[in-house]
Amino acid sequence: MSQSYDDQNIFAKILRGEIPNDTVLETEHSLAFRDIQPQAPEHVLVIPKGAYVSYGQFAQEASEAEIVDYTRAIGEVCAMLGIEPARGGGGFRMISNSGRDGVQEVPHLHVHILAGRPLGRMLARAE
Ligand code: 5GP
Repeated sequence: MSQSYDDQNIFAKILRGEIPNDTVLETEHSLAFRDIQPQAPEHVLVIPKGAYVSYGQFAQEASEAEIVDYTRAIGEVCAMLGIEPARGGGGFRMISNSGRDGVQEVPHLHVHILAGRPLGRMLARAE
């Protein structure tokens, strides 16, 4: 695990049950819950229960069981929301902001799953 992980971050507090969340799915190694400030009609955050800051760190350091569980949890959320285009859903965007340049506000790995309306271009063109 990273020595720089801040266990006072808001998602660590959610995992410890110290603050409430609107849970969509909980598995052995993962938790999915609704974003408190949704940016689309569907806006779910999926986090691993382990203390990982970024997807890159998770991909290199997590166990195979954690990685499989997390990946399957993301798929299950998409199926639950009915947004999976392979099953006739309208599609979605998955974003994982990482670090300073990725403008990550909460330093615990999370993917945003956004859906329910056309989401526009991926990024605003840099000035
Ligand atoms: P980031 O910028 O780190 O990728 O996104 C962090 C996300 O966490 C934001 O979309 C923000 O609305 C969400 N968030 C921050 N605090 C809370 C909270 O206490 N509960 C929930 N459900 N979401 C939160």
